Amino acid sequence: MPAATPSTRVIVGAGQAGATAALALREAGFDGRIVVVGNERHRPYERPSLSKRALQSGQGPVQVWPEHWDRDHGVELYLGRTAHGLDLAAKRIVLDDGASLGFDRLLLATGGHPKRLSLPGADLPGVQFLRTLDESRLLRQAMLERPRLAVVGGGLIGLEVAATARRLGCEVTVLEAGPHLLGRVAPPEIAALVGRRHRAQGIAIHTGTRPVRFLGTERLEEVGLSDGRSVAADVAVVGIGIAPATDLAMHAGLAVQDGIVVDAHCRTSHPDVFAAGDCTRQIPHAGDRGVRLETWSNARAQGLVAGRNMAGACTAVEDTPWGWSEQGDLTLQFAGTTADWGGRIVRPTAKGLLAIRHLEGRLTAAAGADCAKEMLIAKRMIAEEACIDPALLADEARPFKSLLASGAA
Ligand SMILES: Cc1cc2nc3c(=O)[nH]c(=O)nc-3n(C[C@H](O)[C@H](O)[C@H](O)COP(=O)(O)OP(=O)(O)OC[C@H]3O[C@@H](n4cnc5c(N)ncnc54)[C@H](O)[C@@H]3O)c2cc1C
Repeated sequence: MPAATPSTRVIVGAGQAGATAALALREAGFDGRIVVVGNERHRPYERPSLSKRALQSGQGPVQVWPEHWDRDHGVELYLGRTAHGLDLAAKRIVLDDGASLGFDRLLLATGGHPKRLSLPGADLPGVQFLRTLDESRLLRQAMLERPRLAVVGGGLIGLEVAATARRLGCEVTVLEAGPHLLGRVAPPEIAALVGRRHRAQGIAIHTGTRPVRFLGTERLEEVGLSDGRSVAADVAVVGIGIAPATDLAMHAGLAVQDGIVVDAHCRTSHPDVFAAGDCTRQIPHAGDRGVRLETWSNARAQGLVAGRNMAGACTAVEDTPWGWSEQGDLTLQFAGTTADWGGRIVRPTAKGLLAIRHLEGRLTAAAGADCAKEMLIAKRMIAEEACIDPALLADEARPFKSLLASGAA
């Protein structure tokens, strides 16, 4: 493989953040060598439809790059290759076949791995995960046989899969260990609405219980639960969150705290190494615990900033955190960040429900079910650090939009 030149940018991870960074590098005028290394065999694609449209219809996911973009822009794409080692002193990455690749600036955009369950029977055929296109295709294949499906984890991905599976005619049971669905992202009121909508579609939901074993002779037949019950299942999808893919960074000695530590410029603890997307923990201020965001919008925003900065700019991620989820006919949206929902205000909307987190006079986070207009307003309020009287926020007679003008900081 060619030796490093002074103008080689290497990107590890050909997902949302990595592929967006390559686009941004070229758009920012960088005309040196760009190499993107991805360990999947597919060209960079967007993951959100893997649990929704692509899972239901079998259509391919949206591509991050226009067709032939890499060829037309002289970007080298190494697919099906894994970066195994990172030597920061020599500024090289080592690939799985032993070849090495020099860089002058590197981006780590390695995403995350689904968390596994170390339980008896967890390796039985039928126990599946959903992160990649290949896994989505495998799951769709299984679903077309209309199996009894157990979804382990009542978070966003689990509920999306549950809704899609139901549309495909599967018998679906969701198993959530916490007291309510969506414990990591939404308050109980929104979770209750979501639960009602899914139950109305015929999905069984058990909260406060967790699998303790997967049972079956040749493949999965049953999931044994912590409360002594069991659920008959031909397929179980485990959706209990992801762990950021930080091995390369950690072994190379970069700062890692459950995520590769980056600042708002996507810089890691090494001046020539950047990181973006699900693999990062963003710590904009010293001493801060920072946040780890696992959303499409964040991967895109950080990919753009990392690409521009690797081309020599000095831009920062300024977007208000934003995420969404589609679960059958239901749309959920999230803005801002919060570790808990204490002090929230919940407002019914025309078709759904809005929850706003109010902390020390400011709006810090919002979650909404089927209330896209209100969520756009809430997002703006959070971005503008609006100070709005909680009594006004809670006043359902007052149109939500009218509060924007009254509260912008
Ligand atoms: C099923 C599903 C549905 C989702 N739906 C939504 C949604 O509705 N809304 C939303 O906001 N977000 C959604 N997300 C989250 C969103 O897709 C992710 O936040 C986003 O893909 C993160 O992008 P990324 O580039 O950081 O990581 P990824 O897209 O995971 O890309 C990382 C890539 O790096 C590769 N890689 C890792 N290590 C190496 C290595 N050492 N060498 C080479 N390659 C490597 C990985 O295999 C992967 O291909 C969804 C995710 C999934 C899985």
